[in-house]
Amino acid sequence: MDISRIIVPLNKAQRQAVCSEAQNNLVLAGAGSGKTWVLVHRIAWLVQVENVSPYSILAVTFTNKAAGEMRFRIENLLKTPVRNMWVGTFHGLAHRLLRAHWQDADLVENFQIIDSDDQLRLIKRIMKELGIDDKQNPPREVQWFINESKDNGLRCEHINVRELHNREYMLEVYQQYEALCQRTGLVDFAELLLRAHELWLKQPHLLKHYQQRFSHILVDEFQDTNTIQYAWLKVLSGNNLPDTHLNTFVVGDDDQSIYGWRGAKIEHIREFEQDFKAGSCETIRLEQNYRSTGNILEVANAVIANNTERLGKELWTEDGEGELLQVYQAFNEIDEAAYVASQIEKWVEKGGKRSEIAILYRSNTQSQPHEYELVKRAIPYRVYGGLRFYERAEIKDALAYLRLVANRQDDAALERIINVPTRGIGQRTIEMIRTEAVAREQHLWQTAVDMIADRQLTARAAGSVQKFLDLIDEMSAVVNDDSMSLSEQVVHIVKASRLKEFHGKENSERAQAKVENLEELVNAAKRFDDEGDPLLEAVKDSLELSQISDVSEEAGSISPLAEFLAHAALEAGEGQADEWEDCVQLMSLHSAKGLEFELVFLCGMEQGLFPHKNALQDFTGGRLEEERRLCYVGITRARQQLHLTHAENRTIYGRSELAYPSQFLAEIPASLISQVRAVNQSPSFTAARNNYSSSQGDENEEGISIGQRVTHKKFGEGTVIDIEGMGARARVQVNFDYEGTRWLMLNIAKLV
Ligand code: ATP
Ligand code: MG
Repeated sequence: MDISRIIVPLNKAQRQAVCSEAQNNLVLAGAGSGKTWVLVHRIAWLVQVENVSPYSILAVTFTNKAAGEMRFRIENLLKTPVRNMWVGTFHGLAHRLLRAHWQDADLVENFQIIDSDDQLRLIKRIMKELGIDDKQNPPREVQWFINESKDNGLRCEHINVRELHNREYMLEVYQQYEALCQRTGLVDFAELLLRAHELWLKQPHLLKHYQQRFSHILVDEFQDTNTIQYAWLKVLSGNNLPDTHLNTFVVGDDDQSIYGWRGAKIEHIREFEQDFKAGSCETIRLEQNYRSTGNILEVANAVIANNTERLGKELWTEDGEGELLQVYQAFNEIDEAAYVASQIEKWVEKGGKRSEIAILYRSNTQSQPHEYELVKRAIPYRVYGGLRFYERAEIKDALAYLRLVANRQDDAALERIINVPTRGIGQRTIEMIRTEAVAREQHLWQTAVDMIADRQLTARAAGSVQKFLDLIDEMSAVVNDDSMSLSEQVVHIVKASRLKEFHGKENSERAQAKVENLEELVNAAKRFDDEGDPLLEAVKDSLELSQISDVSEEAGSISPLAEFLAHAALEAGEGQADEWEDCVQLMSLHSAKGLEFELVFLCGMEQGLFPHKNALQDFTGGRLEEERRLCYVGITRARQQLHLTHAENRTIYGRSELAYPSQFLAEIPASLISQVRAVNQSPSFTAARNNYSSSQGDENEEGISIGQRVTHKKFGEGTVIDIEGMGARARVQVNFDYEGTRWLMLNIAKLV
């Protein structure tokens, strides 16, 4: 057996991790030091040297894209497919378990996954039914509360109503929401995880089965596991049992924990050594970086050094210093995008590939000016995230038809399409059906059927609703023909629903794009027909291999349609364009985690944008540290060249506003930076300046001027952005670095 393929490419510390004999291992290491590399080699080592069956390996990572890449890399190393190995995300794996064991999980067989939009719609509906004013009590807060509770493993009965102070209504909504989801067979993202965890607790025979099945669990990006994911892992690994034979291997970087806002806890890294000390637990650190140049690493080290809560590690490389960091100060976002595009053109002219380039930003809306500029220059690109394919309205409409055809109890789907395309069913009728559904304690579909039979609707409304019900039933009759492939089913439903006519009736580019998206859905279904879902294939294989007869993994019975719908729900959030085309990659910093590119642009380095303004308002400083970790993630994506850009003037919600450089820029030693400044004054920037100065003059009599840096005793440092009035009535508007924008009376504020 030739193990040199596995061992030779590793450095000493990596080798120690890959070949470790400890039962539990934590690899704690900085960006680009080979964590994912080690994890993949460890799997190859287990299979090839320790003769572990791929069937006994469970590998967890953060996105579906990463899971696909991981499988590819393992197969490449082993030179053989490993279809029966479970590789997936926590959500994907939880979903797979619940499908296979829906009865044990107390679900209906064809339960549907809902996304956060559907969830919000249901919450609004419940609040309305309960007579809760959604102006005073924003439904989004309730949604947040429900998801946070679930992420922490808390069902309604675990919540102490007294701790909610005067927001007890949230618990009531949570209760109603749970009941509604249970009744209608809907499962939200957080529920997937919570229920998969409860499956372990409530069904010991299942837990035992999987504990016997898996001998090795490996987790990438461990720093971003949340409470319920960690609990799931702990129970599965049997870490509290003295005789557990399960091995765990987790890799992570505390400096890259960026999902605290979604309940991820860095503390798990610290707890791991404690929680998994049964057997033996080894911690291995990797510090040599194989990704970036020396200068890029120095920038990364300098920025992250400003965080206080760190486990502490420095990155270094054997490679040269490389180029200096380029900081570009643009006039506005158009100018910024033009700079980025021209740098891309230079790169390509020198023979570089477009797929080696990433444009990264803090929030998805920032992609627009870049897209505009790239289209103008005919540079192919691909946007990850943003309004992702499966999240687009027209696609969600089509999916809602498919969902309702698969499951008539799916209230969220029914509400979405009952009047899309418009068929004369008004809000009042829908409202009546809703109210009646509550009174009858049944789902909307059955209620509509009953109300027509009981003549509770006007003749016109009843006619329209009946037509809708008939349409769905007809669709169902057609697609339930066994000989129909999934893509044929989708073709039929898109056609019969007349969604293309509906979305395409405007004669605009947007309408055209919507029609194209619906056509792309058919293509996606075709691909699914051909390739299936790798994880599902793995479960099917395991059925054949399973030696344990008392547990039936009924994954084989999942219909292709149900499978496709789940795939669509989980896949939302991943890229959409043609993978094979050589194109520039645009994505948010969050979705760039784990990836690497030769040339990286980190755009919009402005106070309030990045760090995000919400983080600046958090007095504990915790969120600012999370933003800084995000910045560190962005910097460490770059292999050769890194550009940071910021604009002096940015359009936010249609208004042009002065913007100030991000504090993270100030944290980078000047010696590492090559500064570039826009040479032409853009018209909009000049206009904005003139606007500010026309009414009050640039400088007032106290010698304060717009753009000047000032210090206030309480609010700290900031920049003057406006001046009004004179003498005792003079007021200034200051944008404070940490406190946001405030108007102050000059003679009281005592600015320095
Ligand atoms: P991140 O924290 O960003 O997820 P990571 O620690 O997972 O980073 P990898 O992506 O595994 O790092 O590795 C970074 C790069 O270094 C990859 O291109 C990988 O192929 C390469 N690499 C890692 N270890 C070695 C090594 N020993 N020899 C050569 N190249 C290596
Ligand atoms: Mg990685």
